[in-house]
Amino acid sequence: MKPIHIIGGGLAGAEAAWQAAEAGVQVVLHEMRPVRGTDAHKTDGLAELVCSNSFRSDDAETNAVGLLHAEMRLAGSLIMTSGDANQVPAGGALAVDRDGFSAAVTARLEAHPLITIAREEVAELPPEDWDQAIIATGPLTSPALAEAIAVATGSDALAFFDAIAPIVHFDTIDMDVCWFQSRYDKVGPGGTGKDYINCPLDKVQYEAFVQALIDGPKSEFKEWEGTPYFDGCLPIEVMAERGVETLRHGPMKPMGLTNAHNPSVKAYAVVQLRQDNALGTLYNMVGFQTKLKHAEQVRVFRTIPGLANAEFARLGGLHRNTYINSPVLLDGTLQLKTRKGLRFAGQITGCEGYVESAAIGLLAGRFAAAERLGRAPHLPPPTTAFGALLGHITGGHMVSDDEPGKRSFQPMNVNFGLFPPVEAPKVAGKRLRGKEKSLARKRAMTGRALADCRRWLGLVAAAEAAE
Ligand SMILES: Cc1cc2nc3c(=O)[nH]c(=O)nc-3n(C[C@H](O)[C@H](O)[C@H](O)COP(=O)(O)OP(=O)(O)OC[C@H]3O[C@@H](n4cnc5c(N)ncnc54)[C@H](O)[C@@H]3O)c2cc1C
Repeated sequence: MKPIHIIGGGLAGAEAAWQAAEAGVQVVLHEMRPVRGTDAHKTDGLAELVCSNSFRSDDAETNAVGLLHAEMRLAGSLIMTSGDANQVPAGGALAVDRDGFSAAVTARLEAHPLITIAREEVAELPPEDWDQAIIATGPLTSPALAEAIAVATGSDALAFFDAIAPIVHFDTIDMDVCWFQSRYDKVGPGGTGKDYINCPLDKVQYEAFVQALIDGPKSEFKEWEGTPYFDGCLPIEVMAERGVETLRHGPMKPMGLTNAHNPSVKAYAVVQLRQDNALGTLYNMVGFQTKLKHAEQVRVFRTIPGLANAEFARLGGLHRNTYINSPVLLDGTLQLKTRKGLRFAGQITGCEGYVESAAIGLLAGRFAAAERLGRAPHLPPPTTAFGALLGHITGGHMVSDDEPGKRSFQPMNVNFGLFPPVEAPKVAGKRLRGKEKSLARKRAMTGRALADCRRWLGLVAAAEAAE
């Protein structure tokens, strides 16, 4: 049986290799370090954590990444086993000893009889002879391979920086203050004339907001990142610094909008949010890419009328990050539509974070192994964290029609906004409210997810058979 070739031995590649080999398939894992380094990696260990040592919350009941941990454990994840074995105290988070963790992953992969590790850069697209291959080269894919991917997928399809605007959970937006309307009620392709949520600011609110953007603490670019102000994608605070009126003539312009709650008073400025996912649970703040520190974003954006109680599925950012336009390029099994047998995994697909990257590696490894064994890939249900994340990457994201030429797909962590909604259960026949309702809904989602994940993995049948 021919091997599966996996390019990149980071979080995703390591997990993909493990899953494929555990399924009984031979794997060649190509990792370029130490032959060639990246700007962020410091060691030659596999699955090196380049920055924080945290896998974030380990709470599988009320936190989406905690749920993803739990699903990965059920699926026999090497990254989770090695993380658990190298845990360091971090409250409710799973944090790890980074060297011990990377050493454990490397040792397990090196010892696996079906895995060969080749320390070399793959500088071209995999040759045709590699009929099952996974590219998992991450946010710092080597320039030669990135160039080859750009040529194969089209120059617009590969980004080298993300420009992330915050995303808000729809059910935390106050629709008694905001209203649905497209600018000038334009219907556009696929629209209704009421496609945006609008938040009105008066002059005093606007000027205070602009000042807060200028004064707020920002994250710095790393020296090797450069300053990637491109495609008119300026951070809002940079626009704010150019003059108090700049934002009112840019992303916050009030023209063509009438406040449905107060039609006789023209808003001085308007923040617009656009539907981000097909489920309609997430809305992104249009044109609000920013380098403001995360805590400051929450503080400043909650001063926007209608967003006082906003919960953010994602906060804004601008980083060096190589990733492809997955919803356009990949099929539902992470396979390049134009080349059967070639998959992408990890952060290069447009997920964000160590755990999410490993989870997508886990799926890609299983899908490729299934095909190698002559079976169809078995997709996780959309109600699971695996399925929700896969859905974001391969299909759930809404493409913006009204900003032609702009890529709207941006990387994202797993979050509850990616899951099909559930009703919060009633307690003693009574509807819950506020925080209690939100917690009950999360518990209902995670309970459903874990049950569906067990069924997907065949663990329910196995448990029933054992009884
Ligand atoms: C500076 C920086 C800081 C970050 N901080 C965090 C953080 O604190 N928390 C977090 O969750 N996420 C963080 N991330 C995101 C993080 O990189 C990803 O979450 C995760 O590492 C992605 O996993 P991956 O497997 O897709 O890529 P990686 O883990 O980067 O693995 C890709 C591997 O591919 C190898 N490679 C690249 N090109 C080639 C080639 N042509 N041939 C062979 N091998 C190749 C690389 O050497 C690397 O080992 C950060 C990213 C950067 C760039």
